[in-house]
Amino acid sequence: MKKIALHWKILLGMFLGVVLGLIMTNFEGGKGLVQDWIKPFGKIFINSLKLIAIPLILAALIKGVSDLKDISKLSQMGGRTIGIYITTTIIAVSIGLLLVNLVNPGKSITEKTRTEMVGNYSDNTTQYKQTAKNQKESGPLKALEDIVPDNIFSSATSNRNMLQVIFFAIFFGIGLILIPEETGKTVKHFFDGFNEVILKMVDLIMLAAPYGVFALLAALVVESPSVDLFKALGWYALTVIIGLIIMVMIYTTLVLVFTKKKPGFFIKGISPAQLLGFSTSSSAATLPVTMERVTEHLGVEEEAASFVLPIGATINMDGTSLYQAVAAVFIAQAFGMDLSFSTQLGIIATATLASIGSAAVPGAGMVMLVGVLGYAGIPEAGLALIFAVDRPLDMCRTAVNVTGDAAVSMLVAKSIGKLGDPKIKNWDDNYKKDE
Ligand code: ASP
Repeated sequence: MKKIALHWKILLGMFLGVVLGLIMTNFEGGKGLVQDWIKPFGKIFINSLKLIAIPLILAALIKGVSDLKDISKLSQMGGRTIGIYITTTIIAVSIGLLLVNLVNPGKSITEKTRTEMVGNYSDNTTQYKQTAKNQKESGPLKALEDIVPDNIFSSATSNRNMLQVIFFAIFFGIGLILIPEETGKTVKHFFDGFNEVILKMVDLIMLAAPYGVFALLAALVVESPSVDLFKALGWYALTVIIGLIIMVMIYTTLVLVFTKKKPGFFIKGISPAQLLGFSTSSSAATLPVTMERVTEHLGVEEEAASFVLPIGATINMDGTSLYQAVAAVFIAQAFGMDLSFSTQLGIIATATLASIGSAAVPGAGMVMLVGVLGYAGIPEAGLALIFAVDRPLDMCRTAVNVTGDAAVSMLVAKSIGKLGDPKIKNWDDNYKKDE
């Protein structure tokens, strides 16, 4: 195993997990065995990644911002980051809309399938609708208000509050720049060291990645619904997947044009993070690995990566926004509704906002989809239609979300002169060095 590149090991783990899952589904009691004895290892793996997400954001951002030594550089980088993130999201939604109107996947759903699915899955969608309703009842500036916490310690107790932690870390970093260097020296050294330790923890967790994804995929396969449902939703799923592939091509082109780095270099560097995004369905859980790959394998300097990536993991979800556009129009088509051009333009705006508001956790995109459906007057009961294939699509869109963050970090880094050569010290080099 030693000489094989990490992404191959992860792919092998995924493949063996699927094979085991398929074998176990055919055995009486096989599902229970996987759930009792294999699934927990997947959970332990995801938990260990999530465990370091908040400390990583704190340490990396404080270090990153204070390393800039200059507030104007920070606002320049901030403006570019947000600008590029919003642009790529709008591109993603537009591609989703274009494809779904070309393929028309909703037209292939028969009346019978529709009634059956709405019947079977309506219970599952109630909870989604409730969460979305609570969000809708709050005022228009609630999202902004929520970014500023009243207590950083209580914010840091939940991975759902990442934007609040980001806000605190940037604010703290700015404070650190503004005090005399001599006074801030100890604090700065503390966070620099803290950051190194966290990155080392990522290296160690990555040792377990092939086994972690093996357990995650075996559990997913034994718990997945029947293949028949996938068939009925085949065109819909295919439309989303084609859109996601186009997005990845757009990222590689942007990276090539603006940074002159070849597609192979970019994909090879980021692939372990993509595979983890796919296996965990969570950009937040993948963040530590994205950070490590981008800085060590793509050459983005830490000042840029530690600012662009945590923000991206929380607000930049191109895969999610593309999926929301396709799903909304698909449901409308399945219910025989024709959406006007202006409603579809409105979907661009709502899906962009909905993806920004989606938490970086499994299934979050579907919760926010309720808002898009509500805006366009599409029946929310239609969520039941797409429920069965949501998890596999969530896996694919999360991999794209992660890829988008990495690509943008390269663009922003290049634009401020912070893109250098990769400093490859992958986990085994590191490991040996420290022994
Ligand atoms: N799971 C996605 C992510 O973490 C969000 C979503 O689309 O549900 O990026």
